[in-house]
Amino acid sequence: MEFINLKAQYKHYKSEIDAAIEDVLCSSQFIMGKAVSDIESALKSYTGAKSAIACSSGTDALILSLMALDIKVGDEVITSPFSFIASVEAIMLLGAKPIFVDIDERTYNLSPQKLENAITQRTKAIIPVSIFGQMPDIESINAIAAKSNIPVIEDAAQSFGARQRQSDDKWVKSCNASVIATTSFFPSKPLGCYGDGGAIFSNDEHIAQKIRALLNHGQIKRYEHHFIGLNARLDALQAAILNVKIKHLDTEIDKRQSIAKYYDENLKDVITPFIDERNISAYAQYSICVKERDRLIDKLNKSNIPYAIHYPIPLHLQEVVRKVYPYKKGDFPVSERVCDEILSLPFSPFITQEEQDKVIKAVNG
Ligand SMILES: *Cc1c(COP(=O)(O)O)cnc(C)c1O
Repeated sequence: MEFINLKAQYKHYKSEIDAAIEDVLCSSQFIMGKAVSDIESALKSYTGAKSAIACSSGTDALILSLMALDIKVGDEVITSPFSFIASVEAIMLLGAKPIFVDIDERTYNLSPQKLENAITQRTKAIIPVSIFGQMPDIESINAIAAKSNIPVIEDAAQSFGARQRQSDDKWVKSCNASVIATTSFFPSKPLGCYGDGGAIFSNDEHIAQKIRALLNHGQIKRYEHHFIGLNARLDALQAAILNVKIKHLDTEIDKRQSIAKYYDENLKDVITPFIDERNISAYAQYSICVKERDRLIDKLNKSNIPYAIHYPIPLHLQEVVRKVYPYKKGDFPVSERVCDEILSLPFSPFITQEEQDKVIKAVNG
């Protein structure tokens, strides 16, 4: 059994994907070009964001966003301690100090109730993470940030395709819920390519233009450079693959709902994912919590069932963070507990019911 069945996914879309790759090969337009502008249009219309800018990875998307905001040494940037390293890596790479806000016990997303106290004069951005594919209470986070005029960057690496009902009953898509959002097209993410890729979304035209320049050597016109930038463009080949996959995304997101429901209804004695009733999750992962995780791991190993721990160490306790900032165990107790109890089960739109039954039997057994 595959943890995330990318082979079955490729087989399913093979003729379309092979044709899209061949188009790029025949055009020899490997950098920028039509495939890239097509995926940017598709990302824009899917999310409703004013600008969608394709780039080289979810990590670079975060770095570019912070660069566009001129984040520098002495600034503070708030994020969740329960995330992949990239969220804090981008902040520290620019010399800013990561300030953590603990997560909600049920959704594992940054808790808006705990956010206000973490804001200081030096806070220059807030990066909530839409963990496992579920958006945080973004309306409350945006409102708190707006009071101090702080931009919010949704780290939507795991949540492309997710949406949330707002208090006016309108739905907002992940990546279009705050002034900036970033996503990743790493193969195992909800919208994955066949290598590295990412995108940045913004509703601020000035920020979008700057990011567009920054990811292409700070160039504003051919060989005219206004910023120190990066080479962080999305490959045309990856864009071509994404142009195929995005057409099937909503079908896959629907499948993810029913597959998750089947686990929810059949798994026993574990905490299944809590999805807020305002949210449709993109289910980047199906992650459960168990007190005796080692015992569960034994059972999974005995039945040859793949699993993953997302994540074993909260960001504030990562060596690379701790050696610079004096965070310690006990600082963010909810994140620390979840890191001890979380475990992700095999999950993808292509998992079969037979495979799910095997997983359920091993977990319940
Ligand atoms: C995957 C991920 C990233 C980084 O994306 P890459 O494309 O692998 O660079 C950033 N943040 C979160 C929360 C992620 O899960």
